[in-house]
Amino acid sequence: MKPIDLRSDTLTQPTPAMREAMANAEVGDDVFEEDPTIKKLETLATHKMGKEAALFVPSGTMGNLISVLSHCQRGDEILLGERSHIFLYEVGGLAALGGIHPRTVPNNPDGTLPLALLEKSIRHSDIHSPPTRLICLENTHNFCQGTPLRAEYMDSVRELAQKYGLKIHLDGARLFNAAVALNIEVKLITKQADSIMFCLSKGLSAPVGSMVCGTHDFIQRARKYRKMVGGGMRQAGHLAAAGLVGLENLVERLKDDHKNAKSLANQLASIRGIELEQPNVETNIIFFKLDPNLMDGETFVNQLETKSIKVIMTDQGIFRAVLHRGVSTEQVKIVAEAIKSILSI
Ligand SMILES: *Cc1c(COP(=O)(O)O)cnc(C)c1O
Repeated sequence: MKPIDLRSDTLTQPTPAMREAMANAEVGDDVFEEDPTIKKLETLATHKMGKEAALFVPSGTMGNLISVLSHCQRGDEILLGERSHIFLYEVGGLAALGGIHPRTVPNNPDGTLPLALLEKSIRHSDIHSPPTRLICLENTHNFCQGTPLRAEYMDSVRELAQKYGLKIHLDGARLFNAAVALNIEVKLITKQADSIMFCLSKGLSAPVGSMVCGTHDFIQRARKYRKMVGGGMRQAGHLAAAGLVGLENLVERLKDDHKNAKSLANQLASIRGIELEQPNVETNIIFFKLDPNLMDGETFVNQLETKSIKVIMTDQGIFRAVLHRGVSTEQVKIVAEAIKSILSI
């Protein structure tokens, strides 16, 4: 039996239309800026984000890294959430490779950074202090239950950034999940950011790739940093072709993943021994806790595996389930039934 894989939306397989587009893509050498399919994708991303320019990159991690590098000098400080992907899960690249000093601010449960704390964390011209240069936000916020950050919140961070002359980078790995969940045009949550990274390889189902967007100058610097870290690809239009299909055709269907996530959350909430980290699931990510008196985390994961269901344990007794195109409404019921039967020992 094919497993029901809830570990991540990166597990999505390309659609038949993507495979066809990839096979037939017109390509050139992108380091020479001669790949027409990549150019087309960059133009579409530029337009959708409401920015001046865009750059196709191999991964979200590289997109975030070169964005931060393009905004900062060595020794600059950036402000970001203590639960942010950039801080927790990108191998410390900004410090290791960029000499950039991360200063974390505790996230609110909804993924936002408290404005007062953010403001207090901004350094002034004291000789002892590294200069604060950048604020990084994450939308949707992966490790805050996939919560979308509202346009109003983005506006107030913009105001703060403007007051102190700081830039804003948006880690929008799941930006379209946010726009779809909030039922707004994506530009309303990108206009406050100086730069944006979003992933084609998650809910949008492309096999590879992310986009970085910003001003012409910014993208010029990012293009150079992309080359520096080995991300200058050649006939990569074959990859961009899949991203184009995702961006053009698979945004609206993210609603289905959100519906499935809500449905799974509701079913899990009624199971004895399971507690949702946040009852109000807004996008495609669910975190839930298992009562340790009932079963330890490893046993739970193994029992699910024997039923061909995969989830990730992010902490002892805490699990993440991510809904995506590869998981149907029918399978959501199967998962809930399986968990119920495992715990009713
Ligand atoms: C997945 C993810 C990334 C990184 O993307 P990769 O393509 O896996 O490198 C960055 N930020 C967030 C919030 C993510 O969920």
